[in-house]
Amino acid sequence: MGTTVTITVVAASEPAAGPALDAAFAEVAAMERMFSSYRTDSDLSRLNALAGQGPQPVPAPFAELVAAARDTAALTGGAFNPMLGPAIKLWGIPENPAVPDAAALDALRPLLDPAGITVDVAGARVTLARPGMALGLGGIAKGFTADRVQALLRGMGVGAGIVAVAGDIRVWGTRPDGTPWRIGVRDPDGGHKPRARLALTAGAVSTSGDYERFFELDGVRYHHILDPRTLFPARGVRSVTVLAPTGTRADGLATALFVMGVADGLALVETLPGVEALYIAENGAVTTSAGWPGT
Ligand code: AMP
Ligand code: MG
Repeated sequence: MGTTVTITVVAASEPAAGPALDAAFAEVAAMERMFSSYRTDSDLSRLNALAGQGPQPVPAPFAELVAAARDTAALTGGAFNPMLGPAIKLWGIPENPAVPDAAALDALRPLLDPAGITVDVAGARVTLARPGMALGLGGIAKGFTADRVQALLRGMGVGAGIVAVAGDIRVWGTRPDGTPWRIGVRDPDGGHKPRARLALTAGAVSTSGDYERFFELDGVRYHHILDPRTLFPARGVRSVTVLAPTGTRADGLATALFVMGVADGLALVETLPGVEALYIAENGAVTTSAGWPGT
């Protein structure tokens, strides 16, 4: 997935934690084999190669995540769009980034329609309507992976832990001393002092930021979150941190809220039970939803 995964579990002894951590990292590897766009042999890459050729069988968790991505797109008015694959490829982020020709980007639009994806969850089949279409789950797969690892560990009897797939974090239980897990919201400018702090014993927190993957040209920062309306990097926000019951929800929403901007994003958050958000805008201003619990 091109990132770092950190898993912490609470156990009676270090040897007791070993098998749980081994199983957890095996699950991360299994998710990478499904969702990676870096690997040509992933289920995602194989599906994209068969775009326009009818329904394709996929692993059950794959169908589940595609359905979640589709729902996130609907919920956010298309700010989250899992069909941006061809546009992301044209931007070449992160391997060989360059500002694409606006006409070339525009020409891709018929391939970026979120309606081009059909998913049959019960039958574990996904259809991409036209050749050249490409699913991209980079905005939601890390949170889903955190959820899967957490469920696996809980199933193995691990009562507390924290799973961080880059900035997509799932927590449960408490630290050995009975206090909550602590999560800091990073300073987008790289300062060592967190811009906000959270103390959690359940749920998920995801951050989308313009500092995660980007390149600079003529003093302009081009980062990896595209506004589906312009097909250029979304402007106005440095980072948005979302608190939600699951990692899948938090991850998908963080990417969408980054695109939607502070006003529209917070208006949506206020309609969603169990979801809170914190924005750091381009001018450094911090704005939160009404129920944001941080200190
Ligand atoms: P995240 O770090 O979770 O915000 O995910 C960013 C990644 O999601 C990018 O690297 C792209 O692969 C993908 N992406 C970019 N823009 C969008 C968008 N508007 N909707 C969905 N996925 C996107
Ligand atoms: Mg995301």
